[in-house]
Amino acid sequence: MEDSKNTKYDFIIIGSGFGGAVSALRLAEKGYKVLVIEKGKFFKPDDFPKNNRQLTRWLWWPALKMFGIQKLTFLRHISVMSGVGVGGGSLVYANTLPKPKSAFFNQGSWQGLDDWENKLAPFYEQAWHMLGAAENPYLAPADLALKELAEEMNKAFRPTKVSVFFGKANQVYSDPYFEGAGPERSGCNFCGACMTGCRYNAKNSLDKNYLYLAQALGVTILAEHEVIDVLPHGKHGEKGYEVIFKKSTSYFSGPKKIRTKGVIFAGGVLGTVPLLLKLKKKHLPLLSDQVGQMVRTNNESLIFNTVYKGLYLDKMSEGIAIGSIMTFDENSHIEPVRYGKGSSIWGALVVPVINEPDFWRRNLKLIYKILKTLPVRLKLLWFHDFASNSPVLLFMQHLDSTIQLKRGRFGLKSGLKKGETNPTAFIPDALDFARKFSKHIKAIPQVLFTESVSGIPSTAHILGGACMGKDIQSGVIDKNHKVFNYEQMYVFDGSMISANPGVNPSLTITAITEYGMHKIPPKHKKQNH
Ligand SMILES: Cc1cc2nc3c(=O)[nH]c(=O)nc-3n(C[C@H](O)[C@H](O)[C@H](O)COP(=O)(O)OP(=O)(O)OC[C@H]3O[C@@H](n4cnc5c(N)ncnc54)[C@H](O)[C@@H]3O)c2cc1C
Ligand code: SF4
Repeated sequence: MEDSKNTKYDFIIIGSGFGGAVSALRLAEKGYKVLVIEKGKFFKPDDFPKNNRQLTRWLWWPALKMFGIQKLTFLRHISVMSGVGVGGGSLVYANTLPKPKSAFFNQGSWQGLDDWENKLAPFYEQAWHMLGAAENPYLAPADLALKELAEEMNKAFRPTKVSVFFGKANQVYSDPYFEGAGPERSGCNFCGACMTGCRYNAKNSLDKNYLYLAQALGVTILAEHEVIDVLPHGKHGEKGYEVIFKKSTSYFSGPKKIRTKGVIFAGGVLGTVPLLLKLKKKHLPLLSDQVGQMVRTNNESLIFNTVYKGLYLDKMSEGIAIGSIMTFDENSHIEPVRYGKGSSIWGALVVPVINEPDFWRRNLKLIYKILKTLPVRLKLLWFHDFASNSPVLLFMQHLDSTIQLKRGRFGLKSGLKKGETNPTAFIPDALDFARKFSKHIKAIPQVLFTESVSGIPSTAHILGGACMGKDIQSGVIDKNHKVFNYEQMYVFDGSMISANPGVNPSLTITAITEYGMHKIPPKHKKQNH
């Protein structure tokens, strides 16, 4: 094994998404020597796919030599979309930054450990500032359709707050956010393609704020390398750690190791949780038994609404990826989501919605519905661009449901404990509203085949699995994010989220990491103690 003897870091951060990026900048500001290891690639605007039919540039599937930004994971109880690359999920996300309601701060395993709502309030403001949040100035046809329905149903509707730079379309500006210390931006042109990576330098992904500023302070980012093991020196890591990693974009490269005093797990739920599960079996046996427990989603439902005629035909890619949000009831929100023109791959993967709990009856009904709608569906696929006609209704709820992640013979698997309710593919309110929305815009409601065929829901917001607790029996980390039983070892990413925020979680991951990092003392001060 290759040994980088000369370099010794204060912290190695595993993953460069929201938690990892905030940690990198704040630790560097406190004087620590930091290395970020990221398994995905470093992307420039031109590297992103023109649309999601360019599979090798869009998908992350290393076994097939696909090194894009979008990872798809299919488990028994959930199908998960997540991001890969320097900037993690920010490369592929829809930029939306809502703050959760009060309930989030007072439930789950972090409940009562701190006065979360009040303590976090200034860090939400800081997170909005750092991510370059601004209100969406343009309501596109899909947003206006939602607004009309919201008015009809007397529901609150508002434009989203998003991490996008709204200067003049395609015009280049010097750094508009950090008094010149950040990179140039260009104004958004409302092409709707944010979720395949912004090719116009208008999206404030993490490589343009936290990671850019961290690099300027000397943080090293090692892209295309995956951490596969962590060995403690001393029973509790009190003498530091050895981090083992290997090249992720090549079949033929041996493992390498680097010494560090501290480790931060920031690989997102699908990076951190499988790694911790593996380490608990190998070199970190003192980790809590709670690793992999209390995994949540936003209880989402994703319903495509494919327009077949009328005013809205071919207009649904206009705008930013998520331009508006409607409050459905005290527990639920709805957002219309869009892909850019030409991103039609989902068209091949969707089928009509069938709300029927019994597997066989559901699939018989599905076959009947597919045959019945076949002429319209074929006409749509043949003559029209799927993305330009298929806004996706994202329905999210505060209500809680949890699953477990475990190590199986063939990799990660999901499970349910006795008494646990898993997220469901069929949320009646979501289906009713999608039918209403579809009728309004003259569309057919459709879902991913995994939902109608097997009843497995999909999510882009997987959370938990390394939650906070008051002790090692109730959580993996304490209220300061320190891993129970190990020194200088922390978790800062979606897996630390210990209740259901009920809305898109990136702002919350950013704000909670800001607060956690604020509590870590500067390097020199720590040494004086
Ligand atoms: C299509 C889509 C749209 C979304 N839209 C929104 C939205 O509008 N608003 C919102 O709030 N959220 C949105 N999300 C969710 C959001 O992207 C995630 O919640 C967020 O990125 C999670 O942040 P994180 O800090 O947990 O880590 P991530 O952002 O997931 O980053 C983790 C990083 O760690 C890397 N990594 C993992 N394991 C290892 C390892 N062993 N070694 C090295 N590197 C590793 C991964 O490659 C990845 O880059 C969206 C997600 C998707 C997929
Ligand atoms: S709408 Fe287009 S230009 Fe604007 S942020 Fe999204 S991808 Fe970039």
